[in-house]
Amino acid sequence: METHTMIEKVKIKCPKCGEESDFDMYKRIDATPENGLRNRLLDNSLFTLYCSHCSCKINVEHSFLYNQLEDNYIVHCCVNDKDAQDVINLLTKPTEEQKPVVNSLAKNNTMIRLVRNRQMLIEKLCIYDMGMDDRVIEVYKHIVAGSYLRDHPEDKITKMLFDAVKPKGEEEYHKIIRIFVDDKNVAQSEIVPETYKKVFEDYVSGMPVMRADKNLIVNSAWAKSIIDLKNAAANPADA
Ligand SMILES: [Zn+2]
Repeated sequence: METHTMIEKVKIKCPKCGEESDFDMYKRIDATPENGLRNRLLDNSLFTLYCSHCSCKINVEHSFLYNQLEDNYIVHCCVNDKDAQDVINLLTKPTEEQKPVVNSLAKNNTMIRLVRNRQMLIEKLCIYDMGMDDRVIEVYKHIVAGSYLRDHPEDKITKMLFDAVKPKGEEEYHKIIRIFVDDKNVAQSEIVPETYKKVFEDYVSGMPVMRADKNLIVNSAWAKSIIDLKNAAANPADA
């Protein structure tokens, strides 16, 4: 498989001793089953630098493109607004020069998502691996949040993450939504296949199939807009 992984040689200033160290910044990661880059993304080693002066461990956050070649699945991880806007511009209004690249992505039916941090990227990959639709998962999270908050009205949910866990001795993965309050995982809810199916039918079945869906950003805010839209359609008198 032809890969186009892009590495930028940069210098990173150590937050502890102030000295600079060389760092290989992966701006584009073309992962294949053979090259191990996916694992190095998942275990954070692609983003870890040990200062060559004081040996302290530095976590380097930067924007990059992750391309899972065999699946035609690209996730842009943009850690700042400018990088996110650049990707949106490239994909929605490409220049003449950029058009061939964008057209070939469409021709290959490439699925493209944009996320704002690595944790969200890893979550997207997990959802994909489990053969699930990330649009359904994001709507599903709102349902889980609603029922959690009915029991814990004083809590403020800071984050929700999809995860798949395989308990010892079991064959099947359990697909769960983890609920975080103050960045602590306080509860989890197992995804019920019937509810998943109902969410799909109620909210997503009218959209293009996942791969053809041109929604770059599928997150909590996106799901909320979908839910609000449906509620507004159901209650036209309230408008
Ligand atoms: Zn240092």
